[in-house]
Amino acid sequence: MINELEKDIDRVLFSEEDLKAMVKKVAAEINEDYAGKKPVLVVLLKGSVMFAADLMRSLIIDCEIDFMKVSSYSGTQSTGVVSIVNDLKTDISGRHVIIIEDIVDTGLTLYRLKNLLEQRGPESLRICTLLDKPSGRKAEVYADYIGGVVGNEFIVGNGLDYNEKYRNLPYIGVMRNS
Ligand code: 5GP
Repeated sequence: MINELEKDIDRVLFSEEDLKAMVKKVAAEINEDYAGKKPVLVVLLKGSVMFAADLMRSLIIDCEIDFMKVSSYSGTQSTGVVSIVNDLKTDISGRHVIIIEDIVDTGLTLYRLKNLLEQRGPESLRICTLLDKPSGRKAEVYADYIGGVVGNEFIVGNGLDYNEKYRNLPYIGVMRNS
């Protein structure tokens, strides 16, 4: 059968093997830092779902998962305005919280979200991202756990979309004409 998505991909940036290695590296760090602490993984929908599922299966610590949806992007541009679309069900007060993100670009989303979650009184709050795009940064926010670094290009796959398409690509690629 013809792959309906691949014709739009210019090149593969991170293969399935690369992604597995990133998850393994980050999971090893979290397993060590959170042994005996039962953190809550706060997964940002929708882009982080694949990464979160892979990461969670590599964790050997007691942990919980909850989901949050915030919006800041339209097409390939950050709007700079972040709003909460779906909130957590978990009370994070007194809990160790790890925000699970797919990619940090301007950092505006996480900057806002971090401040908001801090107000709920977590015991600790850290950020774990599959990818970091430091060239795009506009807010002072840094991830504590980073799988890999990307340059100033728009990427899709492994949960990352372009107008809801390409999330199901098993690798991460750069779009043609991006
Ligand atoms: P930030 O607020 O850091 O600019 O935006 C972070 C969010 O923007 C990510 O969670 C992701 O959904 C989206 N984003 C940032 N860069 C890219 C990219 O290169 N490709 C895709 N598909 N989404 C991106």
